[in-house]
Amino acid sequence: MKYCKRCLFPDTKPDIYFDEHGICDACRTAEKKNEAEEGIDWKRRAKEFEEIIEKYRSKDGKNYDCIVPVSGGKDSMWQTYCMKVIHKMNPLAVTFDQFDKTSVSEHNLEILRKIGVDHIHFTLNPNIVKRLVKKGFEIVGDPYWVNHVGIFTIPAKIAVAFNVPLIIWGENSQMEYGGPAADRERKVLDKRWRQEFGGMRGFREEDMVDDEISMSDLKSLVYPSDEDIQKVGVTGLFYGYYFKWDSQKNMEKAKEFGWKPLPRAWAGSWLDWENCDMKFEGIREHLKWIKYGYGRATDQVNIFIRSGLLERDEGLKIVKERDGKLEYKKEFCDFIGISENEFDRIRDTFVNTDIFKRDGDGEWVLKQGPC
Ligand SMILES: [Zn+2]
Repeated sequence: MKYCKRCLFPDTKPDIYFDEHGICDACRTAEKKNEAEEGIDWKRRAKEFEEIIEKYRSKDGKNYDCIVPVSGGKDSMWQTYCMKVIHKMNPLAVTFDQFDKTSVSEHNLEILRKIGVDHIHFTLNPNIVKRLVKKGFEIVGDPYWVNHVGIFTIPAKIAVAFNVPLIIWGENSQMEYGGPAADRERKVLDKRWRQEFGGMRGFREEDMVDDEISMSDLKSLVYPSDEDIQKVGVTGLFYGYYFKWDSQKNMEKAKEFGWKPLPRAWAGSWLDWENCDMKFEGIREHLKWIKYGYGRATDQVNIFIRSGLLERDEGLKIVKERDGKLEYKKEFCDFIGISENEFDRIRDTFVNTDIFKRDGDGEWVLKQGPC
C-alpha cells in the first residue's frame, strides 16, 4: 500500500488520485479551499448562491422556499441555521429515519426544530428495513445501503410531492474526501450523483428484489421520474460548494444551541461529534477497513492534518490505534437475525487479502500498516 505523503489515505481507497509528488487529490483540493489568493473565490460563490436562492424564494409565503435534508448531526444543524437565519428562507426539514438512531440524535433533532422550522420524518417499514440491512451487509458489505438510498431519495420525493424545487445539501464529499476532478467541483446533487457517490455501491433499488422484498416494498426508495423532477424543477445544491465547509466550526456553532455530541467516539472513529445518529457506525467502518485498509479514524484525522491542526505523526498513532475497531457486533447480529459466526463468515468474503493477513489469534491485520 502506498500512502499520501501529506495525509493518511492509502492508494487502495476507491477514486483516489496521487500526483507526481505523492500527494492525494483530497489534500490538493484542501489547499485550494484554504488558500486566500489563487484559491477558490468564495465571495463570488456566495454571491452566486444568493442570486440562485432569490429565484426560489416564495413571493406570497404560501409554500416552503427550500428543503433541508437533516439527520440531526452538526452539519444539518448548520445548514438549517444558515437557510433560516442567515439567508432568511423558509425551509422544510426532512429526515429519513435511521434504523439504528440514538437518543443523542433525537435530542439534536429537537434542538434543530427550535431554530424555527417544520420537520417531516419519513420512516420506512421496519420489516423491510431489517431485510435490506441484512442484504446490504451480505451482498455489498455495507449494512447502511438502505440508509444511503433513503437519505438521497426521500428529500427528492418530498420536493416533488410538496412542489418545493430547491433542496440544500451539505458538503460535497468528493471535495472533502477526494474524487474525480469534475466531481470535486460539482454544485448539484442529482440522480446521477446519487447512483455514483451516494453509497449505493453499484446496486440499484431493483437489484434488491428477491423472494422476501418486492418492488412495491421499495417504492419509497425509487427516485422520482425525470418527468416529475422536471415538472417541479427539482434542483439539489451543495451548500459546501458555495461556502467553505468546516465541520468543526459547524459543531461549535451547533453546541451554542444545545446540540450534543456522543458520550464518546464510536469504536473505529476518533471524533465524538460525527455520525451521532448511527449506532452501528463501527460495523460499517470495520467493513470499509477490511475492503480498503482504512477506516473512519483516517477520514477524520486527515481533515485535521489538512487544516494544519494535527501533525501527520500524531494522526498515524490515532489511526493505528482506532481504525477498523468493531463494537456492537452481537447487537447487530441480533437485529438482522444471524449468529456471530455467520457475521464473521460474511465479513470474511469482503476481506482484501492482498493487504490483510490473519494474526496469531486469527484476527485480520494489515500486512503493512499505515506509515
Ligand atoms: Zn492526502
